[in-house]
Amino acid sequence: VLSLRGIHKSFGDRTVLRGIDLDIAAHEVVALIGASGSGKSTLLRTVNLLERIDDGQIFLRGQDISDPRVAVDTVRARIGVVFQHYNLFPHLSVLDNVTLASRHVFGTSRSAAEKRGRELLARIGLADQADSFPDRLSGGQQQRAAIVRAIATSPELLLLDEITSALDPELVAEVLDLVRELGDEGTTILMATHEMAFARDVADRVVFLDQGLIVEEGSAEQVFSSPRNPRTREFLSRFL
Ligand code: ATP
Ligand code: MG
Repeated sequence: VLSLRGIHKSFGDRTVLRGIDLDIAAHEVVALIGASGSGKSTLLRTVNLLERIDDGQIFLRGQDISDPRVAVDTVRARIGVVFQHYNLFPHLSVLDNVTLASRHVFGTSRSAAEKRGRELLARIGLADQADSFPDRLSGGQQQRAAIVRAIATSPELLLLDEITSALDPELVAEVLDLVRELGDEGTTILMATHEMAFARDVADRVVFLDQGLIVEEGSAEQVFSSPRNPRTREFLSRFL
């Protein structure tokens, strides 16, 4: 689904990504781990074209989306994204948040979009909050609503950036459970996470980023139980 080739990105004289090569197959769940500042968010933002890369290529289903002639909006419509916080539009009801892209980007009728939106909200136990504004929801409910909003248009790829790190600890599990379900259903997911137990449990593959380079990748089992790279070992030892 996604192929990254030689991605380089600098901010001023600070080089953040130093040649990233990564392939993600359909239905794969890939966890991106690494120290703060290693470039995880920047990498996700380049895939969604929120940051322009300095060098390299990004292919989504074979199309070079890093080509500047490609329309950013059409690419973003194919990729679902959830960030750490402030995902929902505060001035729209929960249902309107979930149906916005279907209706305005894909031109789905209001009734069809709302039917699907209500189904998605029912799935996460928020059917009775459809007409509430986001500030009436708990942080965990907001993040689950943000996730179903991101998948409402059946994107080809779901990007998740530390979606539980702003949550109270008791709300983390309900959000991660939803991600696990989506992965089990075959959603293709690339997620940056500090939740090592979750990554180990749910990810098909784990990619360790160190100072803008992938220094190790492998199955969750391999990377967590027998990391080969000393930098990976040192990083993971902090979570023991
Ligand atoms: P964390 O685990 O804390 O979320 P991260 O791995 O996501 O970290 P990034 O947010 O990608 O790291 O940041 C990588 C580096 O790029 C950091 O040094 C950061 O200061 C720098 N950086 C990110 N965005 C910008 C920007 N817009 N302008 C300048 N520097 C930036
Ligand atoms: Mg980050």
